Amino acid sequence: MSSRLTTAGEENPLIDSGKIKLLGVKMEKENHGLSETETLQPIPDRLVVLTFDDGNKSDYTYVGPLLKRYGFGATFFITEGLNFLNNKAHYLTWEEIRQLHDEGFEIGNHTRHHKHTNTQSKSELLADLIHIDKRCEAYGIPVPETFGYPADCRGPEAIEALSEKGYRFARRGIGPEFPFHPEGGRGPVYDPDVYHPLVIPSSIPGPNYKFEDLVWAVDQAKDGKIAVLTFHGVPALEHPWVDVPPEQFETYMNYLRDNGCTVIALRDLAKYVDTSETTGKSITYWP
Ligand SMILES: [Zn+2]
Repeated sequence: MSSRLTTAGEENPLIDSGKIKLLGVKMEKENHGLSETETLQPIPDRLVVLTFDDGNKSDYTYVGPLLKRYGFGATFFITEGLNFLNNKAHYLTWEEIRQLHDEGFEIGNHTRHHKHTNTQSKSELLADLIHIDKRCEAYGIPVPETFGYPADCRGPEAIEALSEKGYRFARRGIGPEFPFHPEGGRGPVYDPDVYHPLVIPSSIPGPNYKFEDLVWAVDQAKDGKIAVLTFHGVPALEHPWVDVPPEQFETYMNYLRDNGCTVIALRDLAKYVDTSETTGKSITYWP
C-alpha cells in the first residue's frame, strides 16, 4: 500500500480536482479489492483504545490481569531503552511480554533505544524498529503492526519510515493541539476522518489528569470519534511524572465498564477504520 503523506493545509492537487480524486478512489478499490472496506464495522459510540508505554513491570503484575477480568483489549508498547535491560524489578522480561501476548493483548513497537525519532535518520529508526521485531520473533510474538512514538517526538522522516515499513496505526500524544504538560493531560479525540492513521492523537493520564478528564474523553467518543489513552506504569516506578496509582486506575476501568465502553487494542482499529485513504489527513510534527 502506498499513500502519499500530506500535511494539513499543504497544497494537494488531488484535493483541488474532484475529478482526479474520484479516479484515485476507483483505483484504490481496484488495487485492494472491495473486501477491505465492505467488512469495516461502524464505529460504535464509546469506543476506547488503551495503550501502555515503556514495558513497566505493572503491565504484567497488575494491568494485564485486571484488563483480562474486565474483558478489555490493550496495546503494550515495548522498548529496550530506558532501564529495560538493567532493572528487571521495574521493567518486564521478554518472557512476561510473551505471556501478555498469549493472554490476547497486543505487543506494539516502541523502538530499541527509546530515542526521539525526530533526531534519527530513517535508517537508524528502521534499525531500532527491526531490533524489536526480531526480539518479538525470538519469543514467538508476532511482528508488531502498530507503533508508539517515544516521548511523542516525530518529524517527516519518521512518519515516512513508518509508512514505508507498513505500519497501519501509530499513536502520538497531545501536542500540538493541546498544551504540553510534563505530568500528562487531555489530548484530542481521534477522528479517523481528520487524522492520518500514523499520527493518532491521545490523552495521557498522569498526575495532571483526573477522573473528570477521563469522563470528558469518553463523552467525546461518539459520532465516529474514538478515545485513545496513553498510560505508562500503574504505578510508573521510574517515571513519577506519568504515574497512575492502581486505585485510581481501577476507578477509570470501572467507569469504562459501567458506561458500556468497547475497549480495544490499537490494532483492533482495523475493524473500524479504512487506512487506505489518507489523502489530505492531518499530520503534525512534535515538538
Ligand atoms: Zn515511552
